[in-house]
Amino acid sequence: IDTATAVYADRHGAVHALPDAAADAQVRADDRAHVFHSWSAQALIDPLPIAAGEGATFWDYHGNAYLDFSSQLVNLNLGHQHPDLVAAIQQQAGRLATIQPSMASDVRGELARRIAEVAPGDLDKVFFTNGGADANEYAVRMARAVTGRRKVLSMYRSYHGGTATAISLTGDPRRWANEPSDGSVAHFFGPYEYRSAWGSTSPEEEAQRALAHLEQVIVLEGASTVAALILETVVGTNGVLVPPPGYLEGVRALCDKYGIVYIADEVMVGFGRIGEWFAVNRFGVTPDLITFAKGVNSGYAPLGGVVISQKIASHFDTVAFMGGLTYSGHPLACAPGVATFEVFERDGILERVRDLGERVVGPRLREIAAKHPSVGEVRGVGLFWAIELVKDASTREPLVPFNAAGADAAPMGAVAAACKRAGLWPFVHFNRLHVAPPLVISEEELVRGLDIIDEALTVADGYVT
Ligand code: PLP
Repeated sequence: IDTATAVYADRHGAVHALPDAAADAQVRADDRAHVFHSWSAQALIDPLPIAAGEGATFWDYHGNAYLDFSSQLVNLNLGHQHPDLVAAIQQQAGRLATIQPSMASDVRGELARRIAEVAPGDLDKVFFTNGGADANEYAVRMARAVTGRRKVLSMYRSYHGGTATAISLTGDPRRWANEPSDGSVAHFFGPYEYRSAWGSTSPEEEAQRALAHLEQVIVLEGASTVAALILETVVGTNGVLVPPPGYLEGVRALCDKYGIVYIADEVMVGFGRIGEWFAVNRFGVTPDLITFAKGVNSGYAPLGGVVISQKIASHFDTVAFMGGLTYSGHPLACAPGVATFEVFERDGILERVRDLGERVVGPRLREIAAKHPSVGEVRGVGLFWAIELVKDASTREPLVPFNAAGADAAPMGAVAAACKRAGLWPFVHFNRLHVAPPLVISEEELVRGLDIIDEALTVADGYVT
């Protein structure tokens, strides 16, 4: 897109001016007739046709520009059409478009080395997958093979992916349609001070109570039956829950005590979202396995994986690891992954995320919270924040009930619509608005987006009782 003239190129390279009503109608017609969309009642949705994107902004065919505060699905970390990532894919496609996983490839090897270099402790081998769900499936399979145990513990209020085991691990309503699952998953409560299961009054107390609860779950499930514990380092879709001091260290200690494999799911928070390569680095904790996807290549091609500790990897030195996918470590996905490392280092992306989070987003959101009666709490880190909306600040009753017809339930739908009218594409989940823009967003765009949210929240205030 040429942003000055609002001219975009179609897939044949032909140039059109926006608005382009004919293109909009054609995309809509094909989509509505033939595309079956995820997580949706097909007749109740109206997907927005997108003409073009650049940086933190995308355009519909009517010429409306949207500042993307959701980074698509919190994966577009380096924004739309980053020239280095596009060039990496073009260059790779021009010389070797594909190679099967059991052969060695330069970009796959280089990406694995780069990941191992920034992973904590002795995690220095990478098993590549197509995305986050299959990364979690394979991490669980490794833990089961190594421990000879079957059960997996995961948190309520978590999301681990849409495939069979991953959706069973998930601790939100999306798993219900798949239940009863294979019976090998048990859920536990994690720390969430604002809605503490134990009535805690400080982050430290919440951490200790959550750990005591977790130990009880381990003991009552039978520690000798538990292969793995999987945990989002910062809970993403279910609320941007940053672990309180001591919690992750405590989880590590419990896993050591009971011989349980600790899997850190960093599909959403890895690769810069909180200003770290891996979020565990911020908390000084070393899991046995880390799963990743999304930000590893900003979602420019499907890619995920599991970073594996030496101890677990060595189990498979002489015993075959039974598993793999045709497209594991696909060169067209690894090439933008290597470019991602180069861009992060050259442009100081991690430092800028930490700076923008602390200096711009945190203070502005706290100001917004103080002003709007509908805001119960704001929380987050880096460029990853949640605004939790309530009907009543004293009872903390959520603005919409848990799982109330998803994100579109009024009044959340009305808040989202107000954002969109003002040119901001929001991330809305249950009673929360998340702030998760591309990490390359300019400070001016960030400030503008937060102003739009401030204004849109007056709609939510109207529902406060
Ligand atoms: N784990 C977490 C924490 C996620 O946020 C997601 C996706 O949102 C997944 C796993 C699943 O990843 P994918 O959709 O790439 O399979």
